[in-house]
Parts: sequence; C-alpha cells; structure tokens
Amino acid sequence: MSDRVYNFSPGPAVLPVPVLEQAQRDLLALPGAGASILEISHRSKAFEGILAEAKSRLKSLLGIPDNYQILFLQGGARLQFSMIPMNLLRAAGTAAEYVVTGSWSKSALEEAKKEGPVTVAWNGKETNYDRLPALGSLPINPQAAYVYIASNETIQGIQFATDPDMGDVPLICDASSDFLHRPVDISRYGMLFACAQKNAGPAGVTIVIIRDDLLARGQDSLPGYLNYRVHVENNSLWNTPPVFGIYVFGLIAQWLQEEIGGLDKMYALNRQKAQMLYEVIDASQGFYRGHAQPECRSLMNVTFRLPNEELEKKFLTEAAKLKLCDLKGHRSVGGMRASIYNAMPLEGVRTLRDFMQEFSANNGA
Ligand SMILES: *Cc1c(COP(=O)(O)O)cnc(C)c1O
Repeated sequence: MSDRVYNFSPGPAVLPVPVLEQAQRDLLALPGAGASILEISHRSKAFEGILAEAKSRLKSLLGIPDNYQILFLQGGARLQFSMIPMNLLRAAGTAAEYVVTGSWSKSALEEAKKEGPVTVAWNGKETNYDRLPALGSLPINPQAAYVYIASNETIQGIQFATDPDMGDVPLICDASSDFLHRPVDISRYGMLFACAQKNAGPAGVTIVIIRDDLLARGQDSLPGYLNYRVHVENNSLWNTPPVFGIYVFGLIAQWLQEEIGGLDKMYALNRQKAQMLYEVIDASQGFYRGHAQPECRSLMNVTFRLPNEELEKKFLTEAAKLKLCDLKGHRSVGGMRASIYNAMPLEGVRTLRDFMQEFSANNGA
C-alpha cells in the first residue's frame, strides 16, 4: 500500500483500493468457482452470475429504464466512433449532427465522415476548445439521424454539467471520462457509451447503453460484431466478451453502491474535490491559468498552465517527490492536467492542493 502514488493519470487511471484488493483475493479462485475469472468459460454459471450482477448494478445505479439495453463490448471508445454511424447513420437518410467540443468529439466526427453525411452543429476550435455551446440553442435539424456529443472532453477539461434535452432527435453521448461520476437521466439519451479505463475499470471493455428503437437501424449487411442488435440478441456473449473487465466493472459498481452510497454521494464528493483545485487556481492571481472557461470546467480533468515552461517542469519534479504523479497535460493543451476520477481519494486532492499553494507562494505569486 505504501508504494502507491497519488495517480492523476488520465487513463488507464486510478482504481478504488478495495476493488483491487478484492480482485487480488479472487485471482486464485473465485468464490464457488475454484478457478479465477481469467480461467473459466464465459458460458459458466459463475460468469453468467458476474455478468448479470454487473448489469443489474449498473441499471440500478443509473436508474436505466427498461427500454434500454446494456452491452459490454471491445474495441474501446474508438470502435464506437465507427459503430455509431455504421448502425445509426448508414440507413438514416439524413445527416448526423456533431458537436465538436474537443479532441474526442473531433475524432468521432472524422470517423463518422467515412460512413455517411455529417454536419458540424458547433465547433469550439477557434478558442482552442475552452468552452461549450448551449445545446438547446443550436440549429439542429429535427430530422437529423442523431446528435453527437462528448459529455467530458478529457484532454481539454471541459464538461457538460447537465443532461441536454434534444427533443426527438436521438442524443448520442461519449461519456468515457465521466461515466458514473453523477446521476444521469438516461431517458434523455438515445445511446450513452464509455470505455472503462477512465472511470469504470480496466482497459478492454466498453459499456454501451442503447435505446431499443435504435437497434432496428442496424442493417443485416453489417459484420456481425459491428451490429448492436447481434450483441443484444446474444446478451454480450456473441463472441467471448472481455471477462476480466466486466468482472472488475461489477466490483466498481458494487463499490459505488455499497461503499460510496450511490451516485448522489459520488457527485457531491467529485464536486468537493474539483472545487478544492479550482479555488487554488482562482486565488493564485494568475499564477495558475485554467484552460477551461469557468462555467465549463470539468469535475474530472482539471487543466491549467503555469507562467512558463520552466516552472511547469519544476512543478512536475517537485510534485513527484510528494507522490503526486502523472500531472503533465496533453501536448495539445500544454501545462498540467489533474485527472481526479471517482477513485481518486480526497487525500490525494488535498495533497495536490496544498502543494499547489506552496509552489505558487515559493515561485512568484
Ligand atoms: C479515452 C477516451 C476515448 C478513447 O478511448 P479508447 O478506449 O482508447 O478508444 C474516447 N473518448 C473519450 C472522451 C476519452 O476520454
């Protein structure tokens, strides 16, 4: 335990210690199975139980209505960038609308262009993706195939704070880096998906929540793996699913329910953690400069710059001595990025906050 650092990695990212401990205990023999999750059939009773429990815990955490299906897929969030237009755009007859708020929604747009007509409903490039539009006021075609957003832009550190109401146009949301960080009204979305390795588990599994009526859009000519309907009809067991990822995801859902006490509590904790860092930025008289416009700030990825690159290097070196690790920002934004997902303990954020205050006091502010 004492070897563990405060891990601010954007992903794969910090996991809850009780989850890691449980996985460690179960690794020689899952209770009742006599072997580990890595060694048993995905058709076994033991795995069936793990899959069913992961689904029911997720359904209960998010209050997912009965007319939505939960899938556990491979290929990361990026495969969804292609599967979404393959299934929902090819046969739609109208364009899909993309809201380009940062690196990830831009990547999704580029993939969608290969599949069918797309419209850019909004693009934040001009201000280097530091803000978000009011979605309700965008000129979205009411007949659009779907509207696409990323709820949290992991690289830029900007986040939609509420669930948009897009009326009858199906809203598709990449929630990879803020999945399960707060309660969400799933009925606002046609589909919401997240790779697990930011906020919900190890790399290798992507969770898809999709509304029943959208499944009919996938054409039979699609390759089997790329058709959502095939996975629904086979309960995510068409091919061998990412069994370990599903197992760890189930443990994380259990941790959220039983140790944290649900998503309302998780949300309160996440707001508290983010506020601690943004307060330091705001009080630093310009020493720290946040990338995001204040009203668009992410609770998950806190992005900021220091007065110059020399100080940024010094900041990283001194932070590492306090076990504050992986704070370097993405090259497209520069500066620092503190990723403070669900599993980042309050103590880690407190240590970073204290260090930031001390560093600015000692270095100019
Ligand atoms: C990390 C990330 C992705 C990419 O996920 P992969 O599983 O590597 O494909 C996509 N969208 C967002 C918002 C992310 O944070």
